[in-house]
Amino acid sequence: MQQEARLVTVDRVWSGRWHGPSVVRVSPTAIHLVGAVDPGHGEDADLPHLPGALFSPFTDSHVHLGLVDPEQLVRGGVGRVLDLGWSPDVAALWPERGRVDAGWPEVQVAGGLLCPPGGYPSRAGWAPGDASVVVADAADAERAVVRMRDLGASVVKLTLNSDVGPVFDDDVLRSIAVAADRVGLLTVAHVQGAGQVGRALDAGLLRFAHTPFSELLPDDLLDRAADGTWISTLDIHRGDEAQEVAIANLRGFRERGGHVLYGTDLGNGDLPVGVNERELRALQRVGLGREALLAALGSDDSLDAGQDGAHWTPRASWVPQPPPDDERDDPAWLARASVLTASTLQELLP
Ligand SMILES: [Zn+2]
Repeated sequence: MQQEARLVTVDRVWSGRWHGPSVVRVSPTAIHLVGAVDPGHGEDADLPHLPGALFSPFTDSHVHLGLVDPEQLVRGGVGRVLDLGWSPDVAALWPERGRVDAGWPEVQVAGGLLCPPGGYPSRAGWAPGDASVVVADAADAERAVVRMRDLGASVVKLTLNSDVGPVFDDDVLRSIAVAADRVGLLTVAHVQGAGQVGRALDAGLLRFAHTPFSELLPDDLLDRAADGTWISTLDIHRGDEAQEVAIANLRGFRERGGHVLYGTDLGNGDLPVGVNERELRALQRVGLGREALLAALGSDDSLDAGQDGAHWTPRASWVPQPPPDDERDDPAWLARASVLTASTLQELLP
């Protein structure tokens, strides 16, 4: 059913910065901020009203969609995801599904996980056999990266996990980084095991799928890492000493200017399918305040009016309650999010 664009007012909008009472245009192809509510403008007062706060879509930057229900994720407030590893031929279909199906999140994918022969996750129970893309040498690296690019991948995922099996040698590691760079894809590395962070940095790999949790990183490694991006995934270690190590590392990384993204490794163990309050609480322990949490949730400027339409998204995250007075309550508040689209608005405001 074709829905028409509708204008609504909302109490506040976050789009990389806070806006007060705002007029928002919602259509099946785009949700965007039109401007501030004009109290002298009678028509604004007549528009249907949404209480609470509307956000550029919350993003989970580390999921495995093959292990969860994408529609449940959307009902839980997550409007965008980065899938960091599955059967490449299956994952290749997801970005298009996310474009045409508003019940799905917007999806970017890595495709398979590049690993050495016998390396993680080739013997891990959670991963389908063809999710592990074996790379034995530089020629393999080139082929694997080009294959992921051709399947529509947005990033190249590789593993460097010495806790579970063999790891790439320095030459192959560097050849993956070079091949990805050549085709214009970012790399995201699963780095685990003693000494592996330094090896990843030596190879020019700066984006990590997890906050390093195998050892407390010394200052010189944190200094070198700080040009990069770490995806948080703190809650997978809950109740475990590894979480304290990860929190300390992430604190040092962030103090040096490192870029932190919210990500949960959804599909790995018992995690809520949606905005994860526990992950946000762990990020607060690292030192992230309200605006830093929202930035980590990838909630950027994509609702802003005045941008070219290419950045507008057909989804926004919405929390019907106002922000709490005490920021310590932010994780529970943000975890009440759902995703607003033209069709969910239709159900709210028939
Ligand atoms: Zn993962």
